[in-house]
Amino acid sequence: MTTKPVILTVDDDPEVLQAVARDLRREYGDRFRVLRAESGAVALEALQQLKLRNEPVALFLVDQRMPQMSGVEFLEQALQMFPETKKALLTAYADTDAAIRAINTTRIDYYLMKPWDPPEERLYPVLDDLLDDWLSQFRPPFDGIRVIGNRWSPHSHEIKDFLARNQLPYQWLDIELSEEAQDLVKYADCDKLNLPLVLFSDGSSLLKPSPLEVAAKIGLQTQAGKPFYDLAIVGGGPGGLAAAVYGASEGLHTVLIEREAPGGQAGTSSRIENYLGFPVGLSGGDLARRAVTQARRFGVEILNPQEVQGIRIEDPYRIITLADGSEISCHALILALGVSWRRLNVPGMDRLTGAGVYYGAAQTEALACQGEEVYIVGGANSAGQGAMYFSRYAHHVTMLVRGESLASSMSQYLIDQIAETPNITVKVHSQVVEVKGETNLEAIAIQNTQTGETEVVPANSLFIFIGAVPRTEWLDGIVARDDRGFVLTGTDLSQNGHRPKGWTLDREPFLLETNVPGIFAVGDVRHGSIKRVASSVGEGSICVQFIHRYLSNVL
Ligand SMILES: Cc1cc2nc3c(=O)[nH]c(=O)nc-3n(C[C@H](O)[C@H](O)[C@H](O)COP(=O)(O)OP(=O)(O)OC[C@H]3O[C@@H](n4cnc5c(N)ncnc54)[C@H](O)[C@@H]3O)c2cc1C
Repeated sequence: MTTKPVILTVDDDPEVLQAVARDLRREYGDRFRVLRAESGAVALEALQQLKLRNEPVALFLVDQRMPQMSGVEFLEQALQMFPETKKALLTAYADTDAAIRAINTTRIDYYLMKPWDPPEERLYPVLDDLLDDWLSQFRPPFDGIRVIGNRWSPHSHEIKDFLARNQLPYQWLDIELSEEAQDLVKYADCDKLNLPLVLFSDGSSLLKPSPLEVAAKIGLQTQAGKPFYDLAIVGGGPGGLAAAVYGASEGLHTVLIEREAPGGQAGTSSRIENYLGFPVGLSGGDLARRAVTQARRFGVEILNPQEVQGIRIEDPYRIITLADGSEISCHALILALGVSWRRLNVPGMDRLTGAGVYYGAAQTEALACQGEEVYIVGGANSAGQGAMYFSRYAHHVTMLVRGESLASSMSQYLIDQIAETPNITVKVHSQVVEVKGETNLEAIAIQNTQTGETEVVPANSLFIFIGAVPRTEWLDGIVARDDRGFVLTGTDLSQNGHRPKGWTLDREPFLLETNVPGIFAVGDVRHGSIKRVASSVGEGSICVQFIHRYLSNVL
């Protein structure tokens, strides 16, 4: 939405106010939005709303003689909110002295005498000049979502992360650092303790919202359009998105349900360098955006953020239950659930997660780390990518690695990049044993795994990349999994050459099929999977072939 800059005129005489607004609209209405107010108090309230909507104000044209608040008194207050706005006073002859004084005291730009007829001679030339001058300095304000909060608030982090991962541009205003943020919180009449405050460009706001509330406000689809689909896919990582593109492009009515943001783990990767066809690599965000566009073009319904929490079978239907209790029924179901970061279980983590301690490369925090010391836990590729990414912002990055080197856990190209980056240090034989701080991370305790010695170092940011686990408990009793929770498929299901328990069909399970006919699993969540973007994409794509074969016998 691009709004026209505002011209605000204030006068307590309704007839004069109407006349001046009419003349302003006639001359400037095509380029400016002309607003009027019948008193200084009403005008100040209107200004607060404009500030909350981030709308620019080009000009105040204000009557000097108003009983409750004079024009100069109004301008003195208005200026604090809109210091760049041009200021003109409308005066009667008797007020000339006051107006001249105001040029010095309130820095008004001009005073005009009433009556201003004819406006072509006595109003427009002066205002043209002021508006031209204002336009020459004008930089359009940020026209999108603004999030006001505290850097160390886990809730603020959650909202920023949700917006960033869903590729929704937003402006972050830190309540501790930004005067503007403090003013906006005041205008919105909200308590600092109730942040984050999310402001939308239509002037509405949400206080302490959940990602679901923000999603509903900006029009993301979180509810299914139909009760039944040929194919439902749980998980919008590379595996799920590939399945969605192939399923929908081959005529299946397809819905994809994603808990956090399309892109999955890959969406959090700052640079994927081994995906075919992108010789200089591409960011996970870019890959996710392209895949979502492609899926939507083929008519896939993407519900996001929405979590699947339950499953039941009523042959021939597979029915999934969403977090809000609603259900979706389908003929074929793909589980593309991926894996989630393994939690670091040391003292202080419960308190400080989201307040200086983050799982994965929380890219939203990168700017805040500018010039600081950043610690990274982990020695695999994701940790290496994270270190490279944060080295662009942080003063220095220390990687804490439990083993004796990176060689056994990281690709050589990343080891080389890290070695060539002067502000990254790799500290081997090291593990974090405690995180310290009251409201935010202040220090971490690092233990040398060989000597057992522990040192405490000051730190504001710790990013954890210590492997991943599947979250598949909700499949209990229906879909067979291995002892670590990965879903069993195809030949992995056979027990001593026998078909899986309860399997009644006279064929073997297809390659990516689970112990329940018509339910498939692809990507990282699958037992024995190769944990790479390309392999998840490959499995998601070929899975659709098996679904066609399955459906041809069901329907
Ligand atoms: C930081 C990082 C960097 C990486 N870099 C590379 C790289 O350079 N090259 C490479 O090949 N691989 C890389 N990988 C690995 C790669 O990203 C994964 O192998 C790949 O994303 C797996 O895809 P997937 O679709 O199987 O699962 P995921 O990407 O994990 O996606 C699963 C999705 O399912 C959603 N989900 C889970 N449960 C539910 C539920 N109940 N309801 C709704 N939604 C649910 C999750 O929110 C998630 O979005 C990287 C991984 C990370 C974390």
